[in-house]
Amino acid sequence: MDILSLPRPSWMTEDLVLLEEQARRFIATEYVPHLDRWNEEGMYDREVWSKAGVAGLLCPAIPEEYGGAGGTFAHEAVINRELSLAGFDAFGAPLHSGIVAPYILHYGTDEQRRRWLPGLARGELVGAIAMSEPGAGSDLQGVRTTAKRSGNGYVLSGSKTFITNGQLANLIIVVAKTDASAGAKGVSLMVVETDNAPGFRRGRKLKKLGLDSADTSELFFEDVKLPPESLLGTEEGQGFAQLMNDLPRERLIVAVHAQAMMERALALTIDYVKERQAFGKKIIEFQNTQFTLAECKSEATIARVFHDHCIERYLNGALDTVTASMAKYWLTDLQGKIIDRCLQFFGGYGYMEEFPISRMYRDARVTRIYAGTNEIMKLLIARSL
Ligand SMILES: Cc1cc2nc3c(=O)[nH]c(=O)nc-3n(C[C@H](O)[C@H](O)[C@H](O)COP(=O)(O)OP(=O)(O)OC[C@H]3O[C@@H](n4cnc5c(N)ncnc54)[C@H](O)[C@@H]3O)c2cc1C
Repeated sequence: MDILSLPRPSWMTEDLVLLEEQARRFIATEYVPHLDRWNEEGMYDREVWSKAGVAGLLCPAIPEEYGGAGGTFAHEAVINRELSLAGFDAFGAPLHSGIVAPYILHYGTDEQRRRWLPGLARGELVGAIAMSEPGAGSDLQGVRTTAKRSGNGYVLSGSKTFITNGQLANLIIVVAKTDASAGAKGVSLMVVETDNAPGFRRGRKLKKLGLDSADTSELFFEDVKLPPESLLGTEEGQGFAQLMNDLPRERLIVAVHAQAMMERALALTIDYVKERQAFGKKIIEFQNTQFTLAECKSEATIARVFHDHCIERYLNGALDTVTASMAKYWLTDLQGKIIDRCLQFFGGYGYMEEFPISRMYRDARVTRIYAGTNEIMKLLIARSL
């Protein structure tokens, strides 16, 4: 789907073009035929993960020595984009590959990397990151979950909510306080293997406005005993700094998602208005349609140029938090506007479940909320003024 009249970006090398084709074919064959069923059942199948692992679509940027594909963020961006272009926005792979695995790679000991990364790459382990709590989302310093020293290990207590991959995850990075009196310096990341963790309990799979087949859930930790090597890295109190360091990539992942969704919306709408007729004309023949879609295409093109700029900067190690926050806030806001305007051209059909634009309208709303709300993005940008 290339709806924008732009040359291929310079970060998109020949091997990435091949990966794009391979991912597109795989998603079309293995996932797309099941999307309606998964949405109706409110959950996609567990084997989605193992199939993605076998196809090499998980952890593409993790080095080969730890079981990954040895690529870069560009490989992730290509795969994530294809998932969105195909309408599988509910799949938690971008978080698994682009957030959970990199925390382990960047901050884990060599032993922790060898223990967890190969399983994540194969889809045997499903990753989640549990930051948000019923009482603390934007203000992460307010988390109340604690990891208290006990013997040579820890006891983890607290509850988390809104956790992506919450029903299927069996490797969960939990943001917890190892020292409740030390503010941000008392926060640590604890890695919980849930397959044999008495006291760990999954709560409800939450009913949501969109992303119907995603298993966003509550999680409970009731005095879960953890071995000492559950602390990510070797030093307590590093959690907040670790979270902050990795935020630009997380924001870029959401921006890539937003860009792909707006391009898909535009493509679906252009096809529709060329077919549908009213007053003896195709809908595209009305000047209002042409002008509105011309605006949408212009804005999506401008967004894509900034998106590619941010990817290139990230690949060169030069994407700062302020620019990444701009990408997250501005592209997700634009995504909402474009999808809304596109939906209008479908008339009543735009409101009907069987038309993908309707689901996209619901699915898109969350990108302005998660991975740091857009208001938090503006706060971060404002600090640079
Ligand atoms: C589908 C979905 C998936 C999610 N996945 C995960 C996940 O995998 N892991 C995880 O940990 N969390 C996840 N979240 C949670 C998400 O990150 C939080 O919802 C988000 O960070 C906002 O936190 P909150 O909901 O507590 O809102 P609050 O922090 O209570 O914010 C409420 C409102 O106040 C505004 N606000 C807050 N502080 C300020 C301020 N200083 N200045 C101006 N405005 C402010 C916010 O922008 C927002 O509009 C997910 C959420 C959803 C909906």
